[in-house]
Amino acid sequence: MRLKSFPGGLHPPDNKQFTAHKAIVDCPLPAELVIPLSQHIGAPADACVKVGDLVAKGEVVGQARGFVSVPVHASTSGAVVAVEPRPHPAGKPLPAVVIKPDGEDRWIDGLAGIPAEEQDDESLRDRIRAAGIVGLGGATFPTHVKLTPPGDKPIDTLILNGVECEPYLTADHRLMLENPERIVDGITILQRLLGVRRTLLGIEANKPDAIAVMTKACAGTSIEVVALAVKYPQGAEKQLILALIGKEVPSGGLPMDVGVVVQNVGTAAAVADAVRHGRPLVERIATVSGPAIANPQNLRVRIGTPLSHLVAVCGGAKGELAKIIMGGPMMGSAQLGLEAPVTRGTSGLLLFGPGQFPRAPEGPCIRCGRCVRACPAHILPTAIAACARLDRFDEAEGFDAMDCIECGCCTYTCPAAIPLVQAIRQAKAAILAKRRKG
Ligand code: SF4
Ligand code: SF4
Repeated sequence: MRLKSFPGGLHPPDNKQFTAHKAIVDCPLPAELVIPLSQHIGAPADACVKVGDLVAKGEVVGQARGFVSVPVHASTSGAVVAVEPRPHPAGKPLPAVVIKPDGEDRWIDGLAGIPAEEQDDESLRDRIRAAGIVGLGGATFPTHVKLTPPGDKPIDTLILNGVECEPYLTADHRLMLENPERIVDGITILQRLLGVRRTLLGIEANKPDAIAVMTKACAGTSIEVVALAVKYPQGAEKQLILALIGKEVPSGGLPMDVGVVVQNVGTAAAVADAVRHGRPLVERIATVSGPAIANPQNLRVRIGTPLSHLVAVCGGAKGELAKIIMGGPMMGSAQLGLEAPVTRGTSGLLLFGPGQFPRAPEGPCIRCGRCVRACPAHILPTAIAACARLDRFDEAEGFDAMDCIECGCCTYTCPAAIPLVQAIRQAKAAILAKRRKG
């Protein structure tokens, strides 16, 4: 059987064997939780607690600011010991609420689920927003916004993303194996809110156990599980839509332009927790892996846990560290150290020693065209990067730089080791800044 896929892309070694067979383990509480007020796309939350306050698990410590924003919550009970800028995965200190756990791990009083069937759509969306649910595949876009499409963009298809195409990461894979009912429950809530006529759950064919488990869990529902070809970036929204339903999201457009909403399987599970149990998003699954970690694992970890704690729980680092990545090796963000905390977007933490993340010295472009063939967005990485390096951002825009999904395929495949995606990111930032100025 020919599996569904998309043009372009790559086949990097998946390196999932280190953790794919390992059940999710609860990460013990750290001595201090650092909960950033900015851990989603949109306006950061405003702190609503002060030093000395006692908080319960699930209590709001940062209020949402605006529609495209969500609140943040205490991920255990304890005392607020600081409200100040702290190291953040974005690379600079950003405002955070720091909690010293009291060890009781006590939920806030009054949390309760209400049968979804007894709630109107607006109450359900409010509940999802109040729970701080964002896209857990790494995008961290507030889920309630995706569930509120404009009237002129009717949605007929819901796509669940169980692809997890980034090498090393196995958090979604384990979640599908261990909590399929939670995912299906969340999907039924999403289906109702969007009023879709079809629902597809895409999973790469390198996870046959997850395909089998989810197919069984979806039996008797209208959810169709679809096996997809193993290719990076199969899990990128536009590529997933193209592979599953053959529709191309227009240049500069969004999935809703072709009547689609895409949600990650972890997000669906979080929606079920929020609606069925009233629980805010205070923890997530993250894969800790890479050649330089002693004991790679999938951890259920509280938001705000320092990365250094994850490393300690996984047996420590094996020798000197040369590269630390939050997320996957293709699209993740390099970290300066282990001081930043886990946020809602932290799908993984990867450690590499010297020589384990090879990068040859940069050479001149040899016009081989590999970057162009690999690009799933069908743009010209080499031309855009060349414009960006000369600060010719208008020309870069003319080459459709804004359609770049920052998948990193061009950089990965370039024999001259030219940091193409970095240059394209710079061009995108300059184009966006110019657009904002008007
Ligand atoms: S140009 Fe952008 S979309 Fe194309 S391969 Fe490079 S990073 Fe991916
Ligand atoms: S892959 Fe590298 S060397 Fe080949 S055309 Fe693209 S930029 Fe040039």
